[in-house]
Amino acid sequence: MRTDFTPAQLLDPDTQQSEKILRACVHCGFCTATCPTYVLLGDELDSPRGRIYLIKNMLEAGGVVPAETVTHVDRCLSCLACMTTCPSGVNYMHLVDHGRRHIEQHYRRPLVERALRWGLGTVLTQPARFRAALQAAALARPFAALLPARLQAMLRLAPHRVPPASPVDRPQIFPAVGDRRMRVALLSGCAQQVVAPEINEATIRLLTRHGCEVVVAEGSGCCGALVHHLGQEAPALAFAKANIDAWEAAGPLDAIVSNASGCGTTVKDYGFMLREDREYAEKAARISALARDVSEVAASLGIERRTEDGRGLRVAYHSACSLQHGQKLHREPKVLLAAAGFEAVDVPEGHLCCGSAGTYNLLQPELANTLRERKLANIALTGAQVVAAGNVGCITQLASGAALPVAHTVELLDWASGGPIPRALRSASAAGGGPE
Ligand code: SF4
Ligand code: SF4
Repeated sequence: MRTDFTPAQLLDPDTQQSEKILRACVHCGFCTATCPTYVLLGDELDSPRGRIYLIKNMLEAGGVVPAETVTHVDRCLSCLACMTTCPSGVNYMHLVDHGRRHIEQHYRRPLVERALRWGLGTVLTQPARFRAALQAAALARPFAALLPARLQAMLRLAPHRVPPASPVDRPQIFPAVGDRRMRVALLSGCAQQVVAPEINEATIRLLTRHGCEVVVAEGSGCCGALVHHLGQEAPALAFAKANIDAWEAAGPLDAIVSNASGCGTTVKDYGFMLREDREYAEKAARISALARDVSEVAASLGIERRTEDGRGLRVAYHSACSLQHGQKLHREPKVLLAAAGFEAVDVPEGHLCCGSAGTYNLLQPELANTLRERKLANIALTGAQVVAAGNVGCITQLASGAALPVAHTVELLDWASGGPIPRALRSASAAGGGPE
């Protein structure tokens, strides 16, 4: 694609980078076929190619950002299916991230929109605030019908009972059981530990049982993905730097483990995000090189089935976009599930997003709900007894409408290797609807 940036514009490292990305696009349009918003809306401006043009025009023109550009960029899920499809290696992720930062800096959204985005960035990233917000949401639930559509969407996703904080999320070291084979830091994260503390608990049991020492480092927290995808650069970089400092101080590590694939994709990108920062560039690159999804670490350890619990259970494996497109990990979790004695099956149209996409289901509830219903219909075709996914956003999104229990992949692996039955399966069994 031809670009028309001025020499002065190209002094900016972000613009230089985006120019390279834009020039790689040959506008073939292959990416449109796998883009969820294009599949749903059929509008070229809601396709990757259309958005690439809009972002190019916006960056070249500078100044005031057209509202139409904001509408179509906001509708992008950042699912990165277009990057998997693109034959020219266009790094859409870095381009749309730059586009979002530019919009945040040069476009004034309506007051309600600004307040909502600020609220999401300051509440969801802080576990204590988020827990308090969920407790307030539980009180508001009886009045849901009176609330605006977006607030209704938030209430639908909020758990009916807010679990208590888990002691595993406090800074500490969990020793390996038996001989130590690895020493890893766990990204204990932010929103996930509030809505589903059992995921970190299962991860720590699974890893320590297979010879990992697991460190929850003092000072580590939100990875910054949530605000990064809202275009809020300063808090995103502050979260990244806090984590880098915490993990650098944690002693020698073989890996930094994430069990929320959206977060893992961002930690793997810290090196890029901080490439121009004199103090952090080198450290950030080191941390990104150590970042692993929990399925990668579990695969390198080799998971042993130690009980007969759940053997042969048919599991629909929902491949989170951030895992399959962001980290190019699609096969590994299914291989692990199969090795642990489950019958892992793919979901038809597995490349399409479930509509969760960070805060997307809160900011774009209509499109997100349509994608969720489509995903649930595809899951129903598998005849599975349980759904597994490697990202808490997908789990929350699917569980809010699924007839089947939805668990994290590590919970199933933990169960098969001697841990407790996953919470979603236990609740379904208690209600008489789950697998035996
Ligand atoms: S597939 Fe790649 S090269 Fe083709 S239009 Fe899409 S982004 Fe551009
Ligand atoms: S990231 Fe997803 S929604 Fe956005 S343009 Fe690419 S395929 Fe479409």
